Amino acid sequence: MKLTEHFSLAELVASQVATRKGIDNAPGPAVIANLTRLAALLEQVRALVGGPITVSSGYRSPALNRAVGGAASSAHVLGLAADISTNKLAPKALALLIRQSGIIYDQLIYEGTWVHIALSAGAPRRQVLTAKFVGGSVSYVSGIV
Ligand SMILES: [Zn+2]
Repeated sequence: MKLTEHFSLAELVASQVATRKGIDNAPGPAVIANLTRLAALLEQVRALVGGPITVSSGYRSPALNRAVGGAASSAHVLGLAADISTNKLAPKALALLIRQSGIIYDQLIYEGTWVHIALSAGAPRRQVLTAKFVGGSVSYVSGIV
């Protein structure tokens, strides 16, 4: 099922971890509605970049989110976040490009080898962070550094 011209539902729910561990990652109607909003956001990023966007993680069912160690409040669980990359730009350049664009997001996180972009149910915060991975734990600093 296509959500937008370039993004399918299958692409936004695909998970190697879910497949490997036999975790059900099928979304319900509310999540599919959110994933449709997310796909529209990804279309904007795709147009900005001028080429395909790879989604490494989109929707995560609560069970999958636990299995990958995601935060309980993660927007991925709502179908409102995607971890993305592109072969057109390094992840940091992608994050900087999105930040300086007119694209409206709730949260943008430069995570080293990918970019997390999220929407919210309420007013977007336009929060920009960089994840720092040290000794198996993660912390966040403001901005893209
Ligand atoms: Zn993410």
